[in-house]
Amino acid sequence: MRRLTSGLKVVSLNSQLAFMRRYSGLLRVLPVLTVTAAACLVGCAKAITTSSSAALVQLDVIGRGRAEVEAFFGSAFLSGFDLHIFPHRTDLDRFAHDRWGMASTECWMVAMGSGSGLVLLDPSVWSTEACEHDGNDAKHVHQIVTHELVHVFHGQHCPNHEFDGMDEVGWFIEGLAYFAAGQLDEEGVARAGKAAKRGLPHSLATAWSGESRYVLSASLVAYLDRTRGRATLLSLLTATNARELLERLGTTEDRLLAEWRADLGRG
Ligand SMILES: [Zn+2]
Repeated sequence: MRRLTSGLKVVSLNSQLAFMRRYSGLLRVLPVLTVTAAACLVGCAKAITTSSSAALVQLDVIGRGRAEVEAFFGSAFLSGFDLHIFPHRTDLDRFAHDRWGMASTECWMVAMGSGSGLVLLDPSVWSTEACEHDGNDAKHVHQIVTHELVHVFHGQHCPNHEFDGMDEVGWFIEGLAYFAAGQLDEEGVARAGKAAKRGLPHSLATAWSGESRYVLSASLVAYLDRTRGRATLLSLLTATNARELLERLGTTEDRLLAEWRADLGRG
């Protein structure tokens, strides 16, 4: 879900975007090698791995997502990060195989983020090479990219940059990304309320499971944000397990779940 890659080093995304805007007409018709060279002209350590000039359009989406994430946390990314935009599923599969030993990626996997960077399957091929995602829906694409950039931001702050073995706080990792990316809409809030009435989640560790995992996890994070504040949320980014997280919140799992459930009941 969130892991990463090497590729275009976004040392300075702003200068890169300025460059892309300046040469956007030209880049649309540039062949692969020239695109690679153009990307490196603006400070990348490695080359962007894409043969699709259309994928460069995503740099603008990524730039906007990055600004949103920084505005949400009131703080900048700690460093540049790697960026890989794959023009086709086969390229993503090849990368996932080489990097993570995966035989292939699932059709719903269109983007991944962690402390080391962002991987994106070009949204222009989602209609034919992905499922459950609409690459023509600009808002949806923007939220997906922003969601993964929250993982990048989080991973940069977390001592465990790739979130390896952090399944017990999966609710915080995924809930934070879903909430900060603006994906928890009114319908999601209502679904979380209904699931909570059915007694879900049974524990924090199981909040990130089942069909309501995104809305339940995001509802918990939204509750923390509203009651503890954004600065507290930021302070939780360095927690690597449930004990650390609850200690920083000064509460217990049972108390947190009970107060969140009571709050939902009032709403
Ligand atoms: Zn995620």
